[in-house]
Amino acid sequence: MSTVFDFHGAPGAGWSQPEPISPEIDSIPKGLRRKSLPKWPRASEPELVRHYTGLSQKNFGIDTGFYPLGSCTMKHNPRVNERIVQMPGMDRIHPLQEDSQVQGLLSIYFEMQEMLAICSGMDAVTLQPVAGAQGEFTAIRCIQEYHKSNGEGHRDKVIVPDSAHGTNPASASMCGYQIVEIPSASDGRLDIQALKAAVGPDTAAMMITNPSTLGLFETNISEASRIVHEAGGQMYYDGANFNAIIGKTDPGRMGFDAVHYNLHKTFSQPHGGGGPGSGPIGVRGHLSRFLPTPMASRRESVEGDPDGVGDGYWYFWEDVGESSIGKVQQWNGNAGAVVRAWAFYRRYGCELERMSEFAVLNSNYLRHKIMNPESDVAEKIHCMPSEGAEADLVMHEFTLSMSPVKEVNGVTGKDIAKRLLDYGYMSPTLYFPQIVPECLMIEPTETESKEVLDKFAADFHAVLSEDPEIVTSAPHTTPVKRVDEVWAARQLILRHPITDSED
Ligand SMILES: *Cc1c(COP(=O)(O)O)cnc(C)c1O
Repeated sequence: MSTVFDFHGAPGAGWSQPEPISPEIDSIPKGLRRKSLPKWPRASEPELVRHYTGLSQKNFGIDTGFYPLGSCTMKHNPRVNERIVQMPGMDRIHPLQEDSQVQGLLSIYFEMQEMLAICSGMDAVTLQPVAGAQGEFTAIRCIQEYHKSNGEGHRDKVIVPDSAHGTNPASASMCGYQIVEIPSASDGRLDIQALKAAVGPDTAAMMITNPSTLGLFETNISEASRIVHEAGGQMYYDGANFNAIIGKTDPGRMGFDAVHYNLHKTFSQPHGGGGPGSGPIGVRGHLSRFLPTPMASRRESVEGDPDGVGDGYWYFWEDVGESSIGKVQQWNGNAGAVVRAWAFYRRYGCELERMSEFAVLNSNYLRHKIMNPESDVAEKIHCMPSEGAEADLVMHEFTLSMSPVKEVNGVTGKDIAKRLLDYGYMSPTLYFPQIVPECLMIEPTETESKEVLDKFAADFHAVLSEDPEIVTSAPHTTPVKRVDEVWAARQLILRHPITDSED
């Protein structure tokens, strides 16, 4: 409870709140109105500032340290993105404003659609979905409508490899599909024989990530596309690992029909903790009429145009008619995320290809640094997959198995992940993909220096040599020690640090 004098807001509080709704305004039903003000803490402004600054310091982010969370592409977020998205022409506009008043945003939307289509070898792009998972759902719905329009609505199965992200089967199942999971071959790659055995007249689509979540490029992807297409199915590309291939190859060339992009991964965006994201999708021409609208479009001036609109105007296109699957998101997607991603891409321009080269280089460098043949590390961890591909180059991320060290002294992958927090790192992705036992999945991204990677490899070795007691009881230095995840999820208790009142 504060006794500090403050000019604004509630007496003694460092915040202000809107006036209570006047009793004369009757647009809000009586039963829904507050009878008294909420019991918010009367914290003074300095107390409030300290509270939020304290919270920000308890949190781990890419701004505080190396964040090798595999598959999530936690790259540095250039500050120029924030400058651009905060320009009044971007952040003061309303989604219902006339097209003529939001030409800047519309031109950015249009350029993003074009750029994403070119990078991925697709024909049409919508920026509406606000997460990769929502993009998956949207594209699979388009594929579903495509099959129905061909009188093939009986196709009810979607094939996913066992290395797939959980969102793939979840999205397909939300569309009503049954999932057929196929095992990976012993080298970790797609098993063509297993695929051949799985396809049939009931195949609607195959969903696959390339490079896979094992960081391996699926070298037989064209063969896979041919097999699925011959069976009448469609190929869906999970673009979460797009950071590895931009400018080098594209899903269109590999035979895909639809793709999602995780703009918040590949094109930078603060996205720890679940948002805000952007998961546009791109499709080949035969699927474009099913896309949700609106989309940005360019109108060329026509001589004698009665509307008098000139060249270079942009507008949202809403005339796809009845074939569209409808809206999947309010307004026009997550505009702020699109603008930040656009700013990021504009900085690289044609050099976007270098981004992928450095992401792959950093990943291979760190992998070899950790698996240093001169150390005894090979007795403690395995580079995965262990057969065949071991000598291969990985793409932008790689997986390690902590099984050997677990067998020797009981230290699990989770213990090592927790101990890395004490060294000032975010933990790598843990226990995913599930086909790697005691898995840690590491993605350094292109924005880390050699010095950071060297230090991480040295610290990783240090953890492996530590007294197992210290590792299994880690973390020791974080504001919150090891939590019981099941208990924490089922018995959530939130306490306010200032008032200590339960919420
Ligand atoms: C992150 C991710 C997704 C889902 O993307 P969201 O934007 O988190 O919904 C799908 N597949 C893979 C491989 C991913 O890494």
